[in-house]
Amino acid sequence: MEEFDITVIGSGPGGYVAAIRSAQLGYKTALIEKYSALGGTCTNVGCIPTKALLDTTHHYADALKHFENHGIEFSDLHLNFEQVFKRKADVVTKNTQGLDFLMRKNKIKVFQGTGTFLNNESMRIISAEQQETIIRSGKFIIATGSKPATIPGVTIDKKRIITSTEALAMQEKPKSIIIIGGGVIGVEMASIFNRIGTKVTILEYADNLIAAMDQELGTTLTKILIKEGIEIKLQQAVYKAENLGDKAKVYFKNKQGTEQDLIADYILVAVGRKPYVNGLGLENTNVELNANGTVRVNDQIQTTVSNIFAIGDVIGGAMLAHKAEEEAIFVVERIDGQKPHINYDRIPSVVYTWPEVASVGATEEELKKREVRYNLGKFPFAVNARARAGMETDGFVKVLSDPKYGELLGVHIIGARAADLIAQAVVGLEYEVTAKDMASICYAHPTYSEVLKEAYTMASGRPSVNI
Ligand code: FAD
Repeated sequence: MEEFDITVIGSGPGGYVAAIRSAQLGYKTALIEKYSALGGTCTNVGCIPTKALLDTTHHYADALKHFENHGIEFSDLHLNFEQVFKRKADVVTKNTQGLDFLMRKNKIKVFQGTGTFLNNESMRIISAEQQETIIRSGKFIIATGSKPATIPGVTIDKKRIITSTEALAMQEKPKSIIIIGGGVIGVEMASIFNRIGTKVTILEYADNLIAAMDQELGTTLTKILIKEGIEIKLQQAVYKAENLGDKAKVYFKNKQGTEQDLIADYILVAVGRKPYVNGLGLENTNVELNANGTVRVNDQIQTTVSNIFAIGDVIGGAMLAHKAEEEAIFVVERIDGQKPHINYDRIPSVVYTWPEVASVGATEEELKKREVRYNLGKFPFAVNARARAGMETDGFVKVLSDPKYGELLGVHIIGARAADLIAQAVVGLEYEVTAKDMASICYAHPTYSEVLKEAYTMASGRPSVNI
């Protein structure tokens, strides 16, 4: 029986980062993945393929919308659906091959198969060919991720009632699609399909899109997406969906109880994800679950068994790849006796619509609820020279800071390149920089980052020189 120091189950961004860090620190490391390709949800059916399709469809929509104004003329612009999806697949393959290389480089033993605990110290791995291997390990790190969730009355059949996974593997352009859920995955998928000419309707239960973020981001995004042609129905409770053969039908009602139904080629369920521990054999260990199905961990990300740790989507919290990666490094360095740190309040959230949406720290609603006083600095992209030059004038930066000490409390951006701009705000919040100090450093002109500078300036109580 082969023995390892550290065994990681699941090869998503949590798992592969944990395995690499473990090997870097000199531990004999195993990584178990049940699928043939490494990378988990993020690389295969999540972050990477969605961003590949978002980029392609953004270029296409931009050409249709803006090129004429730029003076770029063309006579025959059309989308080759097959090539669009082939390129997406190529991007995914390049990433998974990169992971294979990293595993070899770091001498990590990769087992392809489903890992099932036999007890707290050993695991059985059953390969796709039904071959059995049993290993022992000093430490285990569970990184088995999550699967799409659904709501009562809506059964995902993967044919007409689908999830993002099936939507990312479509063979032809759907004429119409109804998306249940206006969260991050919902609005990203809506953008992709709307840009290629599919009629898209979003049904959202809350009174705002991306409802977990600062409200103003959601209301602004709603207006922009409606302008782009997406139909958005807020405050709608979906209670049933059915496969009609060549179409699908969804039933929903508003707060007053008025019932409606809609038919489309597909219904895409994007109502969140649930932790995945099926087949893991936790019943053979002393690892406990929380009521919501997440693996229970303490503040050291250790389960109820001292040699078994758990990271990423399977422990809940923000279901984000970079959160899983941070936990991976934390847990391995913790096992190594180091003193790593993780600050859950400083994990940025990003939505890759166009314009992008990005956020870190407290929202205005949270501060009001907690009765925390704050200064507000808000600056629009429409006044920024670079945004005007690029015709990317939608959106704003909103900075919330402490009125007494000036410390940043939250930064919220909707606008071009928000996903990258937010990194600077994360530094500011993490190191408790004041809005005044953030404003007093030099920002290159003309850049989108100057919108941040102006918002920091206003949050520190000084007027902007640009409005
Ligand atoms: P996962 O990536 O889910 O990996 C878990 C792995 O464990 C899987 O490969 C699974 O096969 C394997 N496994 C499970 N059980 C076993 C077992 N018993 N034995 C062996 N292997 C097992 N996050 C972002 O930060 N940015 C984004 O832009 C983004 N976009 C997304 C878009 C979509 C459409 C989706 C669905 C998700 C997106 N996410 C994004 C979320 C991100 O994908 C997840 O947060 C991330 O993948 C979680 O990583 P993980 O390592 O916890 O688990």
